[in-house]
Amino acid sequence: MPAPVKPKINLLNFDRKGLEAFFVGLGEKSFRATQVLKWIYQEEVTDFDLMTNLSKSLRTYLIEQCNLATPTIVVEQKASDGTRKWALQMSCGNQVETVFIPEENRGTLCVSSQVGCALACTFCSTAQQGFNRNLTTAEIIGQVYVAQRQLGKTQRITNVVMMGMGEPLLNFDNVVAAMRLMMDDFAYGLSKRRVTISTSGVVPAMYRLTQECDVSMAVSLHAANDTLRDELVPINKKYPLKELLAACLDNAKSSPRRFITFEYVMLAGINDSLDDARALVKLLKEVPCKMNLIPFNPFPNSGYKCSSAAVIDRFRMVLQNANMVTTVRRTRGDDIDAACGQLVGQVQDKSKRTRKLQEARVFGAAATS
Ligand code: SAH
Repeated sequence: MPAPVKPKINLLNFDRKGLEAFFVGLGEKSFRATQVLKWIYQEEVTDFDLMTNLSKSLRTYLIEQCNLATPTIVVEQKASDGTRKWALQMSCGNQVETVFIPEENRGTLCVSSQVGCALACTFCSTAQQGFNRNLTTAEIIGQVYVAQRQLGKTQRITNVVMMGMGEPLLNFDNVVAAMRLMMDDFAYGLSKRRVTISTSGVVPAMYRLTQECDVSMAVSLHAANDTLRDELVPINKKYPLKELLAACLDNAKSSPRRFITFEYVMLAGINDSLDDARALVKLLKEVPCKMNLIPFNPFPNSGYKCSSAAVIDRFRMVLQNANMVTTVRRTRGDDIDAACGQLVGQVQDKSKRTRKLQEARVFGAAATS
């Protein structure tokens, strides 16, 4: 019987500390880590034999035992506004989506953290896909790697937002390791203001993040009271607004000039009244923050409509008049379903949510026919 093949070690799974420990474990000096990081992320060299400042014996070891495995592109799409979307193959039939949004002075990559999502926010199409698994560090940083390679030298990724598929704080360790690589001077070297993690409000993980990893935080708020938020963002039942805002305040106070970006999806007749706007102002008065209003991006069977432009404008005025910095997110890439909440990938659902939703639809239709 042939001996079982030992799987190779994917070096994209290590942040700098992890890579240092790996090399020290091999009896090498820890500075090998920064040399290798530079080759991988800055020089985009994938052949260990071309990493010429490593000894021949170390190169041979890496060739035999290690690899730099990145996700593979299944589909690449370009929207009329220049937004690009890639469907990336992960494993076992799973795909996730990554989106690049070019703007005049920056290029933002929207990165996924999980295959599907275990949360069930009612207005998000990823939620309807169910959940399969957490992405590895290599699969998360691999999205940046693959996107930058496709963009070439002319278009740089200047910002990363963890706003793709999944709830990043439910995949804490792998997401933090990947964000450390995004910010590492020997990898992508982005400043902490240019790396943003968006959460639906996993409160204990928010406190932990504030302690362990200095990045910008965005919070998907979407409602100004617990009754409505329980419905739209069900994790609110576990971590209600009072607890969520305390965690936000803890983060905002952790460094000077730090603020939270609150995301608020505009749903017609649900959360877009003037009373909702006033309640938001009252709710957030203690928290240094900016407000990002997101026009709802529709998807099949969502059951919601986006608020009209006039209603969004009226809502924005109330917040701005109360001195809250407020922006309305421009919808990008919607002709290729690359906008917020439209990322679906291909999820081998383990949570049975897709089946439950289908059954609900069939029975719902039967009940109304
Ligand atoms: N799970 C994380 C990150 C992913 S979603 C979070 O909840 O923050 C990124 C943002 O898009 C979130 O604010 C999310 O609430 C919003 N979003 C989801 N579905 C949307 C839709 N259909 N239209 C507009 N925004 C949506």
